[in-house]
Amino acid sequence: MVKVLKCSYCGEEIPPGTGTTFVKNDGSIFQFCTPKCRKMKLKFKKPARKVRWTKYFGQK
Ligand SMILES: [Zn+2]
Repeated sequence: MVKVLKCSYCGEEIPPGTGTTFVKNDGSIFQFCTPKCRKMKLKFKKPARKVRWTKYFGQK
């Protein structure tokens, strides 16, 4: 049984074998379902709750 991962940005489930993992210098691990999510988090640093297509949109 494969553990289902959730995207660190949008909150969607990541099918096994897809997505990317990113480890920050401080050791924290991020999983991303698509390069788009990766870019939004790491490059644009946009809070997921302000992005309409994430599951966290509108949350506090
Ligand atoms: Zn995602």
